[in-house]
Order: sequence, then C-alpha cells, then structure tokens
Amino acid sequence: MDPIDNIRQTRDLAQRAIAFLDGHELAADPRSYTLAYLYYAGTHPEVRTEIDHLIAANAFNRRSCGRLYETFFGLDAEARAIRDASGLIERTLGRVLEALDDAGKDVKSYGKVLEDFTGRVSGGDTDLRSAIESILAETRKMEARSVDLERRFTDTTDEIVELRRNLDEMRLAATTDALTGIANRKMFDVRLKEYADDCARAGEPLTLLMADVDHFKAFNDEHGHPVGDMVLRLVARTIAECVRGRDFVARYGGEEFTVLLPHTGLEGAFAVAENIRNTIATKRIARKSTGQTLGVVTLSFGVAQYKPGEVLEEFVARADTGLYQAKRHGRNRVESAEAMAGEVRRAVGIRG
Ligand code: GH3
Ligand code: MG
Ligand code: MG
Repeated sequence: MDPIDNIRQTRDLAQRAIAFLDGHELAADPRSYTLAYLYYAGTHPEVRTEIDHLIAANAFNRRSCGRLYETFFGLDAEARAIRDASGLIERTLGRVLEALDDAGKDVKSYGKVLEDFTGRVSGGDTDLRSAIESILAETRKMEARSVDLERRFTDTTDEIVELRRNLDEMRLAATTDALTGIANRKMFDVRLKEYADDCARAGEPLTLLMADVDHFKAFNDEHGHPVGDMVLRLVARTIAECVRGRDFVARYGGEEFTVLLPHTGLEGAFAVAENIRNTIATKRIARKSTGQTLGVVTLSFGVAQYKPGEVLEEFVARADTGLYQAKRHGRNRVESAEAMAGEVRRAVGIRG
C-alpha cells in the first residue's frame, strides 16, 4: 500500500476507534483503544464478534474491555509461542496420518494378492509356485513398510515429547521471575483475577499485601548490586516460608513483592504481614563469601481487602496507598488505607 494511503487509513481507523469509545462512554486507555481500533481494522474478526456480543448484552464497559484484551492479547508472547508449537504438532501429526494412509493402501494391495491367490487355487490353477512367490514378495514389502512406519512413529513421538517439554519450559519461564524463582508480575495478574473471582463467588474475603524493601537504593549503593540481588532472593524465600499453600507470592517489580491471601480478612492479613516484617527485620544479613555482616533489611507493607466487583487495579492501588502510608510513617511498618485499619492494627497487637 502507498505510505500516504496507509497514513490516511490508519488515521481514519484511529478516529473511528475514538468515536466508538466515546459512543460507549469509554476512556481511550491503551487496552480499550487497541480493541476499538481492531474492531474496525478487520484484522481480528474474533475480537469484533466478541465486542458485538458484549454490546448486545449491554456489557461493553471498562472491565469487560480489560478482560477481552487479556483473553486475546494477554500473556502475548506465551500465547504466540503456544500457537507456533501447536502448529508444529499439527504438521507432525499430519505426517503420521500420511504414513498410516500409506500403510492402509499397502494392506489393501496385499489383500488383493491373497484374493487372487485363493481364486487361482480354487479355480484349479496349477501354477501355485508363481502365486506363492508373488505373495511372498508382497509380504516382504509389507514387512519393510511396517518397519518404516514404526520408525516414523517413533521419530514423531520423540518430536512431540520434545515439543511438549519446550512448551512447559516456556510457560514456566514466562511466568517466573528469573532472579528469585517466584512468580512474576504477569502471573500475579492472572492469579489476582482468578482469586478475586473465586472469593467473590464464594463470598469469602481476599486480601493483598504489597511489600517494598526499605531504602534499598542506599543498600545497593553501599554493598553492590550482586549483594542486593542476594537480599531480594532472601526476601522472596522468607515471604514464601511465612505463608500457607493457597497464598500466592509474586515479585511485583524491582524490590516490590505482592502476596494474595484468599479466604483471609484484614485482621489475618495484618498478622501475616507483621510476621513477615518481623522475620525479615530480625535476620542478620551476611556476605556469603566472607561472613561479614551487612546489617538488617526491613520491609514496609500496604494491606487492602478486595471489595467484590471493584476494578482490580483499584484493589491494587489501595494496597499501594497503604504502602505509601507505611513509608511516610517511618518504614518497617504495616499500614492500610482501609477505614477499619486502626482497629485491626490494635486487634493484632501492632503498636504505633
Ligand atoms: P524506599 O524505602 O522509599 O522504598 O526507598 P528505596 O531506595 O528502596 O526506593 P527507590 O525506589 O528509590 O529504589 C529502589 C531500588 O531498588 C533502586 C534499585 O536499584 C533497586 N532494585 C530494583 N530492582 C533490583 C534488582 O533486581 N536487584 C538489585 N540489586 N536492586 C534492585
Ligand atoms: Mg519500590
Ligand atoms: Mg524500596
């Protein structure tokens, strides 16, 4: 396409997309805009169909847009990798089917030879020797074919096993933080949605801890980045050790960690956060090679409780507000922006 035409066409699509969002009283945030743009671009008919369904159900809003975007474009690289891999599997299976088809044809011709043979014998044909010879020749051919088929099957099976292993590795790598080995932000987003839906459905509370290492920049400056990395691994391990099986720990970013506590109210969440905070604050950090002590590292926490139906970003933002409060009030503390926070703090015995 002529570059000028291309500019005109994309501008036209952009204008239609914005008008479309305006018409549905939606902000042109990147996700909604992407969906609206594709709605007109014609490149993703499945996106258009889904949006039409949502509009028809009077459910085309910011939340459903977020969900739709996640469905089609979330975990993008992973989804693409899976599509590529399944394409490979499909082609490989195609080859197996071809081989089976060949084998089927062979059996047919074998059967025909046998048929002829029987016909000749019962019809009094005395040239039995040549008939047997032709049967033998066909039998040998079939034998060779079945050996070949077996080899092709084995090769194909090996390839599929290898593909599946690659796929598992990719899936794990896409959702794991390389430094600490715990889940990454991407996985957190997936779990957050799952846990929020599950807890809302079951009428159970869900709380979120957001933890941030205090003065970590200064720590890095003083002891070096590799030691900082070691501390992040220690923090991740400690948090994981302080929670139960169904709780979910992730590295949210740089020196920030999140913990999802399903079936846990604000009081329980404060208690878990206090326990982690205390466990970290009482550890003596030492340099592995020399044993030299590097002092203590502390964490600040923000706690929030999910309000069923609220936008998940708001839930996370409230935990972040609590964290900001904890930083402002002196760090190495657990705080929450929730109205009940003061009472809850006292109930779990937090002073100050
Ligand atoms: P505050 O108490 O307000 O959180 O202060 P801070 O210094 O921790 O916060 P700031 O956001 O200024 O700095 C965060 C630091 O975390 C800076 C950055 O170098 C460090 N950091 C982030 N990711 C990593 C990492 O993967 N390894 C190491 N060693 N340091 C990291
Ligand atoms: Mg930070
Ligand atoms: Mg920090």
